[in-house]
Amino acid sequence: MDTKRIESLVYQLLEALGENPNREGLVETPKRVAQMMEEMFEGIQYTNADIADMFGKTFDVDTNQMVIVKDITCFSHCEHHMALMYDMNISIGYIPRGRVIGLSKMPRIAEMCCKRLQLQEKIGEDIAEVISIATGTDDVIVHITSSHSCV
Ligand SMILES: [Zn+2]
Repeated sequence: MDTKRIESLVYQLLEALGENPNREGLVETPKRVAQMMEEMFEGIQYTNADIADMFGKTFDVDTNQMVIVKDITCFSHCEHHMALMYDMNISIGYIPRGRVIGLSKMPRIAEMCCKRLQLQEKIGEDIAEVISIATGTDDVIVHITSSHSCV
């Protein structure tokens, strides 16, 4: 990610909006926005396989009972308006085939998939793919509710 370039573009955006980017309240804004974007869009640089690598450590377990992690709170940004998708509630379930993923890793997978310019549908697909790559199962379900500030 080109943080310096984002900084300069945010400066120009403020000008285009009719703002004075040099007034006291805005002087540090381009830098702050660039740093925030670095964090908010960290997931753009990773593939789903990378995310499975980062958080997908598994343990051998002799079970085929569904594992569910409910009510993960996330936010993301829609790719059509770069607008906030907020109050996002994600629940993930899968049926293991001999391997389970650390429960604490599932929210981190969801969070990283959200740190991209996204569609709600695609977030579900991405999370399911990461879980599938990490655990070797095709039996994954992801349920998401969210509010979109552009709608
Ligand atoms: Zn949108």
